[in-house]
Amino acid sequence: PPGAETGKRELPEVPGVKSLIAVSSGKGGVGKSTVAVNLALGMAAAGKKVGILDADIFGPSQPRLLGLKGQPQVVKGKTLKPLEGYGLKAMSMGFLVDEETPVIWRGPMVVGALNQMLRDVAWGEDGDLDVLIIDMPPGTGDVQLTMAQQVPLSGAVVVSTPQDLALIDARKGLAMFRKVGVPVLGIVENMSTFICPKCGERSDIFGHGGARSEAERLGVPFLGEVPLDMDVRLRSDIGQPVTATLPDSEHARIFKDIAKLT
Ligand code: ADP
Repeated sequence: PPGAETGKRELPEVPGVKSLIAVSSGKGGVGKSTVAVNLALGMAAAGKKVGILDADIFGPSQPRLLGLKGQPQVVKGKTLKPLEGYGLKAMSMGFLVDEETPVIWRGPMVVGALNQMLRDVAWGEDGDLDVLIIDMPPGTGDVQLTMAQQVPLSGAVVVSTPQDLALIDARKGLAMFRKVGVPVLGIVENMSTFICPKCGERSDIFGHGGARSEAERLGVPFLGEVPLDMDVRLRSDIGQPVTATLPDSEHARIFKDIAKLT
């Protein structure tokens, strides 16, 4: 693939966006979308102009996570105006089809739709974005590989639970980005330690520390551990991401720290 040896790739820029970071995971359900939105909010809290592209065509989560409903307006003929939540510009397939309509597309159509959701959006309508976070589809299939090849990513963050299985999948994700010359910015361990809200006891439900040792072994930065926490789940479900709505919480601090490292 182009740039694999040099790490440099010549790809067309995305209008209105200075840099793009992919958040990816080897499989679904590890908290990739949750990390993506909170990472974006952590960057926004540091004063950056940030957007989020929900590239999970088959299971878009960002509308729910950001509590956003409605359809993007078309401006200047064919450009879509992103919606806005908690200061983030957002685009998602979830804004374009209703929740009950399953998307049944083949790979090339998905790639086409993703390209439009990336490039035909007025990201820079009131000043260029410093960062666009791309919440990637889970896994390392054709669509993910094509995106990693065709999108001018400045880097990728890989999310994993401490579980072995998730880690094996995460390794595939790392290998995919390396293969196409995209720098891996680091690994985030999500659903790390659980602290019982009643008795304060620590339980390592999915194990603990696996992502940190794996990061060391693979020579990529370890960005942080995000504990399994009831508030994170409850707030995600009602469109109130912790980093924006509980800015002084332990979780907000963790996500802001991860944002600083990214
Ligand atoms: P993915 O994007 O990897 O499929 P999601 O971000 O949609 O995963 O998360 C899957 C579920 O796990 C969601 O219900 C989410 O609220 C929950 N979740 C994610 N991270 C945490 C966490 N650290 N603590 C508690 N619940 C979490």
